[in-house]
Amino acid sequence: MAKVLDSKIPAGPVPEKWKEYKAHQRLVNPKNKLKLDVIVVGTGLAGASAAASLAEMGFNVYNFCIQDSPRRAHSIAAQGGINAAKNYQNDGDSVYRLFYDTVKGGDYRAREANVYRLAEVSNNIIDQCVAQGVPFAREYGGMLANRSFGGAQVSRTFYAKGQTGQQLLLGAYSSLSKEVQRGKVKLFTRYEMEDVVIVDGRARGIIAKNLVTGKLERFSANAVVIATGGYGNTYFLSTNAMGCNCTAAVQCFRKGAMMANPSYVQIHPTCIPVHGDKQSKLTLMSESLRNDGRIWVPKKLEDAKALQAGTKQGYEIPEEDRDYYLERRYPAFGNLVPRDVASRAAKERCDKGFGVNNTGLAVFLDFSESIQRLGIDEIRQRYGNLFDMYEEITDVNPGEKACTKNGVDYYYPMMIFPAIHYTMGGVWVDYELQTTIPGLFAIGECNFSDHGANRLGASALMQGLADGYFVLPYTIQNYLADQAIWPRLSTDLPEFAATEKAVEAEIDRLMNIKGKRSVDSIHKELGHIMWEHVGMGRTKEGLEEGLKLLKALRKEFDTNLFIPGSKEGLNVELDKAIHLRDFILMGELVAYDALHREESCGGHFREEHQTEEGEAKRDDENFFYVGCWDYQGSDDKAPELVKEPLNYEIIKVQQRNYKN
Ligand SMILES: Cc1cc2nc3c(=O)[nH]c(=O)nc-3n(C[C@H](O)[C@H](O)[C@H](O)COP(=O)(O)OP(=O)(O)OC[C@H]3O[C@@H](n4cnc5c(N)ncnc54)[C@H](O)[C@@H]3O)c2cc1C
Repeated sequence: MAKVLDSKIPAGPVPEKWKEYKAHQRLVNPKNKLKLDVIVVGTGLAGASAAASLAEMGFNVYNFCIQDSPRRAHSIAAQGGINAAKNYQNDGDSVYRLFYDTVKGGDYRAREANVYRLAEVSNNIIDQCVAQGVPFAREYGGMLANRSFGGAQVSRTFYAKGQTGQQLLLGAYSSLSKEVQRGKVKLFTRYEMEDVVIVDGRARGIIAKNLVTGKLERFSANAVVIATGGYGNTYFLSTNAMGCNCTAAVQCFRKGAMMANPSYVQIHPTCIPVHGDKQSKLTLMSESLRNDGRIWVPKKLEDAKALQAGTKQGYEIPEEDRDYYLERRYPAFGNLVPRDVASRAAKERCDKGFGVNNTGLAVFLDFSESIQRLGIDEIRQRYGNLFDMYEEITDVNPGEKACTKNGVDYYYPMMIFPAIHYTMGGVWVDYELQTTIPGLFAIGECNFSDHGANRLGASALMQGLADGYFVLPYTIQNYLADQAIWPRLSTDLPEFAATEKAVEAEIDRLMNIKGKRSVDSIHKELGHIMWEHVGMGRTKEGLEEGLKLLKALRKEFDTNLFIPGSKEGLNVELDKAIHLRDFILMGELVAYDALHREESCGGHFREEHQTEEGEAKRDDENFFYVGCWDYQGSDDKAPELVKEPLNYEIIKVQQRNYKN
């Protein structure tokens, strides 16, 4: 019988749902909270905020991360900012408008109820973080400053220079540290969750590997929360930190947690282009740069060819020969169209031969006009650390004058190109952020919840902190309310022993392959397959071929992998191999989902389904649902599709328009 998913969306009008939910949810009384243990895996913005909040409420929290400090979670890399509907600029923003922009930005593939709640709690996040002392940028008069991000016509992005993630994480970390000091949070750094333990159909604990000693350890709790980030590194080259992985999420998938919309992968338009084949990481240039930077390529093919050959420089191309293609195609939003639209437009120009750089795979991001308008000091004030980062990597300073022609100053433009950045898909969760395994919750980037087929810039930090500070602390109580009657579970139960044994056996299997290929060489090949066949432009044939190649690669991994050293003690190659095993399965999931979704929406672009103007063409009649994938007991078996229909009550579903 086909499985049915219950998203548990409360009844009532969309703007009232969350208030109603909070008014009627079950609570755990203070004495019982002291008896209840919660495992939170992850210390990024989602995990740290959840762990700190749950501990402050009285629960006993066990908090895990793979880094040596919670502060090194990948959230630290977030540069540009965090959205909220404060309307400090008096430019017409509101909870409704943030909700609307997010649903439209996600190409009408997100749940209305979740997104409305997200917009509603966005303002609380800013208050919370200000109270923690997060040094948001301020205007001269002392008010918090805002800038614009893609897909919005208002300025609602709060920021701390180009280090917003770091400052927010320091805020969450201080709350967490307070709870560690109180003894309510027990921190386990350099521990990796390898599996979830299921007892009587509920998540009751985890098996974690001490990454320093190599030993496996058992932990039990009344509920398990994973906040382990996204799966962008499936593509090998991405803007994600090297340690980002999807092992916890994929292991939960193998145990019965469905994976939703895996094909919704975000390709960010402003990254430093790939150079050579020795790279293992790509660098993001924050979307905030699109506030003042203008994106262009040459109008004439001969100029593009000269730029590619290195016989001409960008600043030598006069104004009239520049094609500001985003401003031309999307006059209403210009350079601030959403990421999926901007990335595809860059690809379209490069495919037609107008790309710059020696590869032809780049476009310019130019600050000449804004520097002349605002002065270099103001521009450096806004983007100084990003300019420095760009210069360190490319040896070009975008704030340096290159020449003056006819009284106009031209500055060295940046070169940028789209790169894998964020994953909208992830573990399926209901309105309570609970997965299809009772007692297992997923928050932050590792769940699929709020962004539909494309995430708007500055909305990931908002979602992670909303989940951790303001949503999960309520919803998890609905589950925990009747858990206090159970005695604390012993890790000697057979389920714990069996799960640990299976993890151990899997590690032995990997160590004993003793083949010839390094983890990185196979991972690089995975990245190539994903980018070529499951990347920015997808086709039926390409995806089918991709799936074949992925299956062959899994075989290669299983038979020809080489891990040096032993499983005892620290072995980074072994840890990477475990991640790669799961990236390959995740890659297949992305491909299955992309193949079945015979439409284009947001970050998922099927070349067969586009409008005459090359825009994504949705098929609402047949694909207006969340595509959820159910594991069939073996990595070799194709997963089964389960659909969660979408139901829109207040937003009219229509073709996205950023032109007027
Ligand atoms: C370069 C860059 C810039 C960005 N800028 C912005 C921005 O300006 N605004 C915005 O809104 N978004 C931005 N994003 C996106 C945003 O940073 C992320 O989506 C968000 O920080 C994810 O937070 P998280 O808490 O879900 O996961 P993460 O921060 O990735 O944290 C994951 C945690 O899980 C732990 N973990 C992982 N696996 C395991 C395991 N198996 N066992 C134990 N622990 C584990 C890790 O140690 C870590 O603590 C940016 C992303 C990138 C790559």
